[in-house]
Amino acid sequence: MTEKKHHVIAIDGPSASGKSTVSKKLAQVMGYLYVDSGALYRGMTWKMLQENVDIHDTEVVIAKMDEIQWDFFIKDGSVWFSIDGTDPGQEIRGEAVRENVAIIATIPEVRAFIGEQLRNMRHFGNIVMEGRDIGSVVFRDSPYKFYIDADPQERARRRCKDIVQLEGQSNVEEVFNSLKRRDEIDSSRKTAPLQIVDGARVLDTTGMTIDEVVERIASALTQDGLSCEA
Ligand code: C5P
Repeated sequence: MTEKKHHVIAIDGPSASGKSTVSKKLAQVMGYLYVDSGALYRGMTWKMLQENVDIHDTEVVIAKMDEIQWDFFIKDGSVWFSIDGTDPGQEIRGEAVRENVAIIATIPEVRAFIGEQLRNMRHFGNIVMEGRDIGSVVFRDSPYKFYIDADPQERARRRCKDIVQLEGQSNVEEVFNSLKRRDEIDSSRKTAPLQIVDGARVLDTTGMTIDEVVERIASALTQDGLSCEA
């Protein structure tokens, strides 16, 4: 029996461009599952830090990666995971992971492993997947690609608000510099850099509300022939 091919909507863009909130809402509107691909890179980084692995030592990272057991399941409308039986929860949003994840994400073997896990998620159903290389590499064959961007200052302000909610305090200038560092690593790495691929529809969300962005994407998808289920 041939398996039904589920749809994948690829949402790429730089850090704090609003793509997580947009992707989550879009998934609700469409009746699709939501996948945060960055969470897997963060999960991998979290595990390496927990195990005191020197993340700059690629060979050690790869050897450790081969020992880790990942399990994937559906939780609150998203595909989520545990690592060696533990759900890392909000710990993957903390500073240590935030400052090291882009380095882990430059390792081609890590990208190949995570890319394979992401492609397997299509078995769970139709998905909205956000990340940096979803339209360019992971689901290059998807006809539904979007690239979400926003002015760097606005992105820093948005991310600062998130961090204040999570940690009680933050500083826009520090966040701006941290985002800039991460953007530079993500855009200049050799394997699967952040880029706008042919066929991606680009949306500058500066000054737009989340609902406006979601509506814009949903109506483009409706024109493509996909229907909202919710
Ligand atoms: O999206 P988020 O900010 O959580 O992603 C964290 C990091 O994971 C990014 O800065 C990037 O280095 C990496 N990442 C990636 N490819 C993806 C998703 C995330 O390299 N598809």
